[in-house]
Amino acid sequence: MLAVFGHQNPDTDAMTAALVYARLLQRQGVDAQAYRLGEPNFETAFVLREAGLEAPPLLEALPAGSPVALVDHNESAQSLAGLHELTVTRVVDHHKLGDLTTTQPAYLRFEPVGCTGTLLLKLFREAGLDVEPLDARLMLSAILSDTLHFRSPTTTPEDRDAVGFLAPVAGIEDVEAYALAMFAAKSDLGDTPAETLLRMDYKVFPFGDPAAPQQWGLGVIETTNPGYVFGRQAELLRAMDAVKAEDTLNGVLLSVVDILNETNRTLVLSATEEKVLREAFGVEAHDHVADLGARISRKKQVVPALEAYFSAQG
Ligand code: MN
Ligand code: MN
Repeated sequence: MLAVFGHQNPDTDAMTAALVYARLLQRQGVDAQAYRLGEPNFETAFVLREAGLEAPPLLEALPAGSPVALVDHNESAQSLAGLHELTVTRVVDHHKLGDLTTTQPAYLRFEPVGCTGTLLLKLFREAGLDVEPLDARLMLSAILSDTLHFRSPTTTPEDRDAVGFLAPVAGIEDVEAYALAMFAAKSDLGDTPAETLLRMDYKVFPFGDPAAPQQWGLGVIETTNPGYVFGRQAELLRAMDAVKAEDTLNGVLLSVVDILNETNRTLVLSATEEKVLREAFGVEAHDHVADLGARISRKKQVVPALEAYFSAQG
């Protein structure tokens, strides 16, 4: 049995890509099963509810040598613990290549598009398979989520074309209204504990010398209600301090992305992070907040700048 899963702290793309890719593989005769590596966030829970689906089962470990298919990620730091002992047979992803290695030839599909869902639609087409309404809804939701309904600079024409194709198949007439409902669900954070908010869309990246990399934890909260998040600034900074110690990080940042106004104001824990932001982005933090302007994409705008900065440190 092939276990299919997206990254830890799953987002809508990680969760739906596992479901859709497992279903696609099953139609091609592969014994595939979708899993998740964490709890669905509020947006993903909304998407699954609207689709009438349960989240796939939680995966905590697999025996060494088990075959796995990775979607929406490839770096071991974002994957199932012990990934290097598993047999990666397939990867479908739209992130930069990290430390991925395989023990045997694998099916690898990497393209710099805005969403794994866009790549999965291509796989359906290449396989000559029709797209069922459920799969269309899941891929469409993932593309709207990852591209912030085309606001993100990661958006490509292929993502727009995919949504144009998928919306009528999914039976979603008003894509704008559906996207806004997704973002509203994502922004309705209630009394979620601060550490949960920090870890909801959170990834650890190694930067600099590969032999002795710095580890940075980069959280993002995409919201239509940034005022709510900044109202909990003190709590969030305490959670960042705790997570920095728990995960033995060199730095931690939490970007608050205003989806509708397309801005990024980032919470900065200490002088260490302040210095890096000043030197990598030319921005000053005031009262633990740095204005990163229109850099709303961690993948395309924040991580590459940090990577370049730490590489240049030698
Ligand atoms: Mn993702
Ligand atoms: Mn994605």
